[in-house]
Amino acid sequence: MTIVPLPGNSSSPPQPQPSSDDRKPQFLICVDCGQEFAFTVAAQEYFEESGFHHSPKRCKTCHVKFKREHPQAAH
Ligand SMILES: [Zn+2]
Repeated sequence: MTIVPLPGNSSSPPQPQPSSDDRKPQFLICVDCGQEFAFTVAAQEYFEESGFHHSPKRCKTCHVKFKREHPQAAH
């Protein structure tokens, strides 16, 4: 068996890389009002940048309300 090294093999066309940031909006259920709410791609990125590795438990409305009622509680 003869292996012939291919000349110019380094110039192979670049493979399409699967994008690492092909996030999708998630739909979660709010623990307070039971409504489905969107965990948007922007929110997911914000959460990750902030170091949170969990999903939000409350919709935006309840989150604002919760923060107002529990100003000292973290999230
Ligand atoms: Zn809610």
